[in-house]
Amino acid sequence: MRTQCSQKLYRAANKMFPGGVNSPVRAFRAVGGEPLFMRSGKGAYLEDVDGNRFVDLVLSWGPLILGHAHPAVVQALKEAAEKGASFGAPCEDELRLGELIQQFMPHVERLRFVNSGTEATMSALRLARAATGRDRIVKFEGCYHGHADGLLAKAGSGIATLGLPDSPGVPDGTAADTLVLPFNDLAAFANALQRYRGEIAAVIVEPVAGNMGVVHPAPLFLPTLRDLTLEEGIVLLFDEVMTGFRVHPGGARSVSGVKPDLTCLGKVIGGGLPVGAYGGDAEIMDLVAPSGPDYQAGTLSGNPMAMAAGIATLTELAKPGVWEAIDTTTTLLAAGIASAAGEAGINVEQHRAGTMFSTFFTDTPVKDWSTAQRSNTKLYSAFFQGMLQEGVYLPPSPYEACFMSTAHGMKEVERVLEGARKVFRKLPAASLLNPVHGSS
Ligand code: PLP
Repeated sequence: MRTQCSQKLYRAANKMFPGGVNSPVRAFRAVGGEPLFMRSGKGAYLEDVDGNRFVDLVLSWGPLILGHAHPAVVQALKEAAEKGASFGAPCEDELRLGELIQQFMPHVERLRFVNSGTEATMSALRLARAATGRDRIVKFEGCYHGHADGLLAKAGSGIATLGLPDSPGVPDGTAADTLVLPFNDLAAFANALQRYRGEIAAVIVEPVAGNMGVVHPAPLFLPTLRDLTLEEGIVLLFDEVMTGFRVHPGGARSVSGVKPDLTCLGKVIGGGLPVGAYGGDAEIMDLVAPSGPDYQAGTLSGNPMAMAAGIATLTELAKPGVWEAIDTTTTLLAAGIASAAGEAGINVEQHRAGTMFSTFFTDTPVKDWSTAQRSNTKLYSAFFQGMLQEGVYLPPSPYEACFMSTAHGMKEVERVLEGARKVFRKLPAASLLNPVHGSS
């Protein structure tokens, strides 16, 4: 694999950007080596500046559910750009994207568009505090909700990848209002409710965790969070920035049957452009300015180009069978990777939720952040590097999910599996780092 051009750009980028990147996990610190600079993407493939082509299983960390440069998205963007990139005034496409989101997620009665997932969660929590008059929030270990102060505690992939403490720069007072509990641990949750009765404004959760690798909620976890938060007048907030349109067209709310008060969205709804949203019960959302006192604003929020990309993406996804086809290829790929590992005597836990999945190199069932961290990260790095050589771009962190798109067909599934078989066959020596007890 040629890397001269990437190396040259990385040297220059290191002088300009902290760590050479504009978002930390991109830097390959968790898997070793240097990041590749990409120059184009088409369908299921990414091409780097040295001309290497990869089947892309990162898809910009989830948004590109139609693959790179889908013709409908490109056309929508061209048309929107010709009409002007931003108005700073309402436009009809905001309504159209809002209606499409409601078609998939009718429980989002009112919503507000913002520019990122971070903005969505940060704003939704302010709203929950405004609605309850309380300050404390509960989050769960290993769940990432963006980089706002107060949400970085035990926040999964990015921070763990870099081995950072939760983050300097967060005021103690802000951190003190965040109660961090183990994911899937209802006893710990009940204890926290008792201890902080009347003080908790919101519970924020990734309803299927994706930022410690994919980790499913235990069957009673979400329904019990719902029951107890209702009893205590606490706002239940599903962060579906990653899971929205990915674990099911209707998000984790549809899979679990649990209706949150507020939902945060991002990634897929922008089709690759910067969009986030928060929404939910009209009664709470009407507290947001200008209909209510909770202030939140954005120069570029709801801008016509981002709306156009989102509309094109969700319109395609609404066609019969489109989402289901991705679900099928994801199932085949995830199962194929698990059996290829098994054939090579490497123990993995394969977790899939709709169109996303993670491979944990472990013989311990993964149900929360502490069990996720027991997986063999050295083995993941070796797998990542081997797959890169085989022309497959995996997430450069053992705690991130792989994503699939409509552009990933059987040809790509076969190609990834062929690469995985080769790489797994070369891994046994490394696998001794972790005891192997057969495949799961
Ligand atoms: N919430 C979840 C569940 C996420 O996975 C992410 C990003 O990966 C965010 C929030 C933050 O979104 P953004 O990176 O758009 O700020």
